[in-house]
Amino acid sequence: MLIFDGHNDLLLNLWLHHRDAPAQAFYQGIERGHLDFPRIQQGEMGGGLFAIFVPPQAYIASTVPARAVEPYEPLQIMWQQLDILQQLADASGGRARLCRSSDDITACRTDGVLAMVAHIEGADALDEQGEQLHAFWQAGVRSIGPFWNLRSHFGEGVSGTFPGSPDTGPGLTAAGERLIQQAGELKMMIDVSHMNSKTFWETARLSRAPLVASHSNAHALCPQPRNLTDDQLMAIRDSGGLVGINFGNAFLRADGKRDADTPLTAIVKHCDHLMKIMGSDNVAFGSDFDGITTPAALGDVSGMPRLLAAFQEAGYDQTLIEKLAWGNWQRVLQLTGL
Ligand SMILES: [Zn+2]
Repeated sequence: MLIFDGHNDLLLNLWLHHRDAPAQAFYQGIERGHLDFPRIQQGEMGGGLFAIFVPPQAYIASTVPARAVEPYEPLQIMWQQLDILQQLADASGGRARLCRSSDDITACRTDGVLAMVAHIEGADALDEQGEQLHAFWQAGVRSIGPFWNLRSHFGEGVSGTFPGSPDTGPGLTAAGERLIQQAGELKMMIDVSHMNSKTFWETARLSRAPLVASHSNAHALCPQPRNLTDDQLMAIRDSGGLVGINFGNAFLRADGKRDADTPLTAIVKHCDHLMKIMGSDNVAFGSDFDGITTPAALGDVSGMPRLLAAFQEAGYDQTLIEKLAWGNWQRVLQLTGL
């Protein structure tokens, strides 16, 4: 069964470790991480949102020490990662496309081509006037999560230790409010994952589009500040939006640990809770592959059929699993204007 996945950090992995020949690495196979083309095919992943993400300078230095000497230019890093995504499409020999609309995604599905939608995770490097936002839109980016864990001139992302509430302080700045409005005018999808409580509610008030949390789980089952409270889930439901289930152990487990000895039923249980609050139209997958540690039982994207089997064993019927795997994302992306 074909899967559309709401969030991955493949571009960061390629930018960090395979910058000279990213497409070659992607199509031949990558040893580290969760995603490459051969494993995507094994897992029957038919499409997803691919994040452009600028990590903190210290993270780059500790992950690839040779890069520590490079100047740290966040805006340039964003463009480099978008360029990597374009290279994946250009070198695909017809196996992958950069999608700019829901029609593009549907066509990819029909043609058996990987549908790649460009997403910005963390707007920290963007200007306050919206010029770069507009430039990224023109270059094909169709989705933005304005925040990551840190504070920026746009406002407050959610950080904090486990267990904890998402209510961690102030919300959007005036520039952040403008950013939400500008993204709305462009019909760029706004991702509320990584928002703290105030930022979330202010975004809910400002945005007319469905609220989408591309890679977050239920706070009631795993009280990470990054997970969504039942009140937030109800607001997402009422907006006609969606939550993509994150496969990271730390966002799944009641103890918040990164322990890979986490059963696949942990993912099913989050889905149960999300559906209990929101119904079956508003839940899908948002793996966070290449950005988290996964349950050993899942491994990487090639393990997706095992996850679908776990849903089947838990009593989910075929129609419902198809909605989780593809239909709900397709519907909500269309509603957001894609
Ligand atoms: Zn994230």
